Amino acid sequence: MISQCMNPACGKELHYLRNGRVIRTTHRHGGQVKVEHFWLCGECHVDYDFLFAKDGHVSLTRRPNYVASTKPALDLLLVS
Ligand SMILES: [Zn+2]
Repeated sequence: MISQCMNPACGKELHYLRNGRVIRTTHRHGGQVKVEHFWLCGECHVDYDFLFAKDGHVSLTRRPNYVASTKPALDLLLVS
């Protein structure tokens, strides 16, 4: 499960899901389904967003500046 913000430069610990963004990814690996959760805290989600690679790897990408003016509320995205 998630313990801290996905941004390594931040590392804020997750205590309550009050802000930011949570995603869940699922991957089939052999006969098993691997589920991973990622969280970006509210401050980091203003400047960064999740980037999904075709191989299922999740990384961070910096948002264009014009998007960064709105502060997002909690929002949950499920990715399969
Ligand atoms: Zn953060």
